[in-house]
Amino acid sequence: VQCSCGGELEQGFVPDFSAAAVWSMVWVAGEPSPDKSFWEAFRTGPGLRVENLDARVIEAHRCTSCGRLELYANRRPDPAESPAR
Ligand SMILES: [Zn+2]
Repeated sequence: VQCSCGGELEQGFVPDFSAAAVWSMVWVAGEPSPDKSFWEAFRTGPGLRVENLDARVIEAHRCTSCGRLELYANRRPDPAESPAR
């Protein structure tokens, strides 16, 4: 794949450095919602609802020439990769 500047895009991802673990960042369908079930809050703590959503791992392709990032979200995360699944 090529950047609009003519440089090459290299594949990568955007790690999410949370307090207890490092995850892959994901894209999820729909609007952010703080309405968590008791059990989801018990497992994942406060914040936005992430379970039972259509989540995709964000792949970030970086141009080695100008640094431009192009983001793709195709692959579903496996359970070890993200709390959103
Ligand atoms: Zn470029």
